[in-house]
Amino acid sequence: MKLSKYYSFTLREDPNEAYLNSHKLMLRAGMIRQATSGIYTWLPLGLKVLNKIKDLIRNIHIKNEIYEILMPTIQPSDIWKKSGRFNDYGKEMLKIFDRNDNTLLYGPTNEEMITDLVSNDLKSYKDLPKLLFHTQWKFRDEIRPRFGVMRCREFLMKDAYSFDLDYENSYFSYCKMFILYMKIFNLLGLNVIPVKADSGPIGGALSHEFILETSNGETLFFYDKTILDKDCYNINLNDKELVIKATEDLLSVYSSSSETHDEALFKSKTSPQNQICSKGIEVGHIFYFGTKYSEAFDANYITSNGEKKLIHSGSYGIGVSRLVAAVIEANNDDKGIIWPKQVSPYDLGLINVRFDNSKSKDFSEEFYKKFTNKYEVIYDDREVRAGKKFNDMDLIGVPLQVIVGEKNLLNSNIEVKHRNTGKLQLISLDKIESYLEKYCEC
Ligand code: ATP
Ligand code: MG
Repeated sequence: MKLSKYYSFTLREDPNEAYLNSHKLMLRAGMIRQATSGIYTWLPLGLKVLNKIKDLIRNIHIKNEIYEILMPTIQPSDIWKKSGRFNDYGKEMLKIFDRNDNTLLYGPTNEEMITDLVSNDLKSYKDLPKLLFHTQWKFRDEIRPRFGVMRCREFLMKDAYSFDLDYENSYFSYCKMFILYMKIFNLLGLNVIPVKADSGPIGGALSHEFILETSNGETLFFYDKTILDKDCYNINLNDKELVIKATEDLLSVYSSSSETHDEALFKSKTSPQNQICSKGIEVGHIFYFGTKYSEAFDANYITSNGEKKLIHSGSYGIGVSRLVAAVIEANNDDKGIIWPKQVSPYDLGLINVRFDNSKSKDFSEEFYKKFTNKYEVIYDDREVRAGKKFNDMDLIGVPLQVIVGEKNLLNSNIEVKHRNTGKLQLISLDKIESYLEKYCEC
């Protein structure tokens, strides 16, 4: 991608309306623009990261036999009346009236719609278990939308739902999703802590939140720091025993959100030097409901003995658009964003230092042509001064920059800069290809 043609408009100064670093940087790097309070347009650079995070999450779900569907954003109100949540949800629900005066709503979540769906399809014990997910825009009319896409009104959520024969099987689905979430956040390079949570308006018996610790986070939470030593990232999700054991091992360490915090338990269960009270960002939330929704929708199955039984269900949400901001919150400095490789919008940033110098321009064009099919390259070919190019590339935060200037070329060298350390390195021209290969591999 050539910056001269791209839709990229960076801002030099921090916008007044932004308080969090992630919000400032998303606006400054030209990733998002506000359309109206709590509603955003995603620009090419922002959308690229959003899609990368979305795909990483999608792929690991599909790989683990959790199948993708796509439910609509607009829902009928009658299913919400059935579950009793039409009134309970309150003002956060955006209601819409169609031309026939039917009440519709923009979905804040999908428990009703999916339970209604499966109640018609799942009939026998042989049809269970089923795990389904979708990634879809949600709308919640938050009282105070703030911090950019961190707490907005329209946001992208990945929500999965499990349907099982009974408590025991449903508990395994819960544990499987628990460990899957730990894996996902680990793949995103985030140190996320699972905590015991209140199940809130979604309701249910068992619930955990996944919190990324940051000094500016909105969620107050408590944990025993030994939880950070638990490694559950390589567990095979089909190994029932191991999955349950790893979950219970994590749950045996004290951690809670402010709603469920028990000060006395915190002091009995943990040693004083391990007690952490901190702030963070809720990036995921999982719930086991039991038969709450299947009762409302008469979602049942026939057992092998011919008996009729209610399905047990759970739901599992990740804030995909919030994660874009959360990753930035965890990875930035005074110059801009520092993308972890796996979600960076581009693999390489290519800077032609002197646009008016034919040697460095020709070399940059050739380099771009050669590598653009192999790597995702963002090439700053604009006719602007070098200082702006350096600042913008640092702001955008691509992990590796390749800097082309005449002086180095005359010595058969090219410069690379690692965004996370700021380290500059001269690489001889005949080594650059293998250097990039090695760099992108790991
Ligand atoms: P919060 O406590 O932050 O208001 P929630 O508990 O209401 O969130 P859930 O119903 O658990 O949210 O939704 C699942 C996930 O969706 C959350 O963990 C969060 O990452 C994301 N999410 C929820 N509300 C918003 C929002 N207003 N803006 C962006 N992401 C959100
Ligand atoms: Mg929540």
